[in-house]
Amino acid sequence: MIPANFDYEAPRNLADALNLLQSRDDAKILAGGHSLLPAMKLRLAQPTLLVDIGRIKDLSYVREAGDRIAIGAMTTHADIAGSQLLRKSSPLLSLAASQIGDTQVRNRGTIGGSLAQAHPSADYPAAVLALDAEIVAQSRSGERVIPATSFFSGMFSTALRNDEILTEVRVPRTEGQRVNYKKHHHPASGYAVVGIAVLLKMSGAKIDNAAIGITGVSAIAYRATAVEKALRGKSAGEFASAATQSGASVEFIGDTYASAEYRQHLVTVMTRRALEEAMSKK
Ligand SMILES: Cc1cc2nc3c(=O)[nH]c(=O)nc-3n(C[C@H](O)[C@H](O)[C@H](O)COP(=O)(O)OP(=O)(O)OC[C@H]3O[C@@H](n4cnc5c(N)ncnc54)[C@H](O)[C@@H]3O)c2cc1C
Repeated sequence: MIPANFDYEAPRNLADALNLLQSRDDAKILAGGHSLLPAMKLRLAQPTLLVDIGRIKDLSYVREAGDRIAIGAMTTHADIAGSQLLRKSSPLLSLAASQIGDTQVRNRGTIGGSLAQAHPSADYPAAVLALDAEIVAQSRSGERVIPATSFFSGMFSTALRNDEILTEVRVPRTEGQRVNYKKHHHPASGYAVVGIAVLLKMSGAKIDNAAIGITGVSAIAYRATAVEKALRGKSAGEFASAATQSGASVEFIGDTYASAEYRQHLVTVMTRRALEEAMSKK
C-alpha cells in the first residue's frame, strides 16, 4: 500500500501545468486523488511525476456560457450537486453528482477527474452522454472540444491525449424537459451497478425526444438509442416495452455482487423505473 517514488509539482496556472505534463511521458494530472492515489498505492499506476492542478485558479466554477452551462474541471461533486444554476437550468448532472459515493468522496472528487478516469461504473458518463455534453481539452497546441458521445473509448480509456488537460464540461439547458437519474448502488463501493440518466422532451402527452445514458453494465457507458427510438412519438404507457431494448447489443460485465445476467435484468427494470419517475416529477 505504499506508492512507488514520484515527484510532485503544484503549478499555479494552466500553461505551467501543460508544460510539466509534457515534460515526462509518464507524468499524470492529480485532481481530487480519489481514484489516482489508491491506484498508485496498489502500484497499478506508477507515474514518476504528479502535476497537482488543485492550486490553479479558475478551474472550479459553474457558470452560464451562452446557451450552455460551463463547469470547470476541478468542480467537486458536492458543488455540482448543490449548484443552484444547474439545479434550475440543467439538473441531470446535479442529480448524478448527489448520488456519487459518500460525503468525503463528493467533497474531494472532481468532474474532470471522474470523466478522465472513465470508470465503467461511474455516474457522470451516463449523464454527459444523455446531455450531449461537450468536453473541453487543452494542450500546449490549443483547445479542442470533444462531444461526450466520442469521449469514452473503453474501460478506463478516453479520447484525451497524454498531453491534454480536461478543463471544462459544457451542458445544454434542459428547462421544460423531464429529467431523472436512477441508480442501483453497489452496497460496498457506492458505484453504479446500473445508472440510468433520462431526458424527455414532451409535446403534450407524447414524447417528442428521449435521451437515455446508461452506465455500470458494460465496459463503457452508452446511449440507449434503441429505447430512444422506440419512445419517439409514444406516450408514457409505452415505457415497459421500450425499456426491454435498454441492453440491445450490449456486452454485459459481471462481478461477485452482480453477474452479467443480473445486470441485464436490472437494466430493463431500472430503465422503466427511471422513465416512470421522470414523468412523475414536476
Ligand atoms: C470510496 C469511493 C467511492 C466512490 N464512489 C463513486 C460513485 O459512487 N460514483 C462515481 O462516479 N465515482 C465514485 N468514486 C470515484 C470518485 O468520484 C472520484 O472522485 C473520481 O473517479 C476521480 O476524480 P478525482 O478528482 O478524485 O481524480 P483523480 O483521482 O485525481 O484522477 C483520476 C484520473 O484522472 C486524471 N485526471 C484528473 N483530472 C484530470 C484533468 N482535469 N484532465 C486530465 N486528466 C485528469 C488523473 O491523471 C487520473 O488518471 C468513488 C471513489 C471512492 C474512493
